[in-house]
Amino acid sequence: MSVANIQRRKFLKTSVGAAAVVIAPGMILFDMAHGKTEAVSGKVRWGMLINTANCAEDCNDCVMACNRENGLSGGLSPTDSQWIRKIELKDKRSGRELSLPMMCQHCEHPPCVDVCPTAASFKRADGIVLVDKHLCIGCRYCMMACPYKARSFVHEPLHDQVPDVPRGKGTVESCTMCVHRVDKGQQPACAEACPNKSILFGNLNDPDSDISRKIRAVASTEIRADLGLNTGIRYQGL
Ligand code: SF4
Ligand code: SF4
Repeated sequence: MSVANIQRRKFLKTSVGAAAVVIAPGMILFDMAHGKTEAVSGKVRWGMLINTANCAEDCNDCVMACNRENGLSGGLSPTDSQWIRKIELKDKRSGRELSLPMMCQHCEHPPCVDVCPTAASFKRADGIVLVDKHLCIGCRYCMMACPYKARSFVHEPLHDQVPDVPRGKGTVESCTMCVHRVDKGQQPACAEACPNKSILFGNLNDPDSDISRKIRAVASTEIRADLGLNTGIRYQGL
């Protein structure tokens, strides 16, 4: 296991806090593929509820789907980008073990955006946090600021990119919640690929959406709720 993964596990083992469901809109819409900006309503806040009880330890389907969808090489080398990863948690007292997917948590108050000197890191009105690769200077402040180790730096030239997901050497990137799919009315690739339907995607701002109903009905939590970032990704069964 790499040092980074050990640190991530150590962090997460001590990081599960209480839920805080306060939802608010963000700023602007940015079209990842075509660089367009347009006004978008903050009536929507996209989020996910991940049911850890249904997430199988030996399953990596969400990770593979993300790699396929976004043209990632799949962590073949330690410096490869990884937008979603599976992690294992163990409760020291009970010995209970859990396996869950971890990705950008699409924070309402994202530290990555706060520290970015060029405004390359930004949050859309619908809560999706992105990097504009044209503005990113590769300083990696955002990687240091992210409590979830969710961002990757592109070290090598990229080949065979997916047209909908332009990337660039020397820039930082992370889970886009498959914004190119979401803007077409589709769900993120990871949610679609999960064989156990462990990832529920939807509008947290709509009280009648499936995800809002589920969050009202079951106990769920943010990872590191103590940081007050109001993440768009919630976990059930932690
Ligand atoms: Fe930014 Fe990290 Fe929060 Fe994602 S999880 S919005 S990269 S601080
Ligand atoms: Fe902003 Fe890019 Fe620096 Fe991250 S690496 S803080 S996105 S300029």
